[in-house]
Amino acid sequence: MELLRSPAEMHRWRAGVRGSVGFVPTMGYLHEGHLSLVRLSRQRDEVTVASIFVNPMQFGPNEDFERYPRDEARDLALLEAEGVHAVYLPTAGAMYPPGFQTYVTVERLSQLLEGAARPGHFRGVATVVVKLFAAVQPHRAYFGKKDAQQLRIIRRMVKDLDLPIEIVAGETVREPDGLAMSSRNVYLSPEERAIAPLLYRGLCAAREAFAAGERDAERLRAAVREVVSQEPRIALEYVSLADDETLEEIEGRVERPALLSLAARIGSTRLIDNVELAP
Ligand code: AMP
Repeated sequence: MELLRSPAEMHRWRAGVRGSVGFVPTMGYLHEGHLSLVRLSRQRDEVTVASIFVNPMQFGPNEDFERYPRDEARDLALLEAEGVHAVYLPTAGAMYPPGFQTYVTVERLSQLLEGAARPGHFRGVATVVVKLFAAVQPHRAYFGKKDAQQLRIIRRMVKDLDLPIEIVAGETVREPDGLAMSSRNVYLSPEERAIAPLLYRGLCAAREAFAAGERDAERLRAAVREVVSQEPRIALEYVSLADDETLEEIEGRVERPALLSLAARIGSTRLIDNVELAP
């Protein structure tokens, strides 16, 4: 497994690669969600590249960049065991040298939901993903449905910039009790961890109501809130039921594919989750 630590090193290695290249970008501290994407690429692509880069640009000034969990040795062992061919681990200095001033903004999609709660977050995401794409030059790139808005923003960006890259979405991988896997779950205390599955249970309650014929958007959002608010230690930030592609909130009836998503704080940890609803 090759380790490449700068754009120049990646370009040199990439120039010698033949065959279809699949790419799984991550911020490391890998779990089964990340590894499921690696496995999708290993099945479809001749060569699989993963990246590990905790991108400072996508963290707000009061967010968890400094304390974001990191374990490079463990991550590399996991990737090696999956048969990954190369890992891109650029330094922040190599990605953003002095004088850096070029950004990618997916305008409207980046303002909604997570973008409203985390100003500048998706500008950081879109910018780093374009830079990672430029370095790795993959034929396919794999993203998790766990980060539903990010997935839609990347798809929009690839379309708008005519990037010749197929974006493949992987299903959200969950713990046995339903909690979506996330590197940030390690922040939860045992008591917080015990109540965290309520988020997904709320989403499931609404999905069941939807399956039983409920189409009123506000009643579906309320079904999520009703379950989650049973637990006073969970502070819901938002529950959204939005158009699956534009992420504009649905008023009235759900007639098209929709994304039901939420963000919540449990103690100092901010968690997101979502399910898709298809009429
Ligand atoms: P991150 O390291 O959190 O930036 O995530 C890297 C990639 O893994 C992104 O495409 C995420 O959407 C994806 N991912 C994170 N958690 C999960 C999960 N529980 N299931 C599936 N994909 C995930």
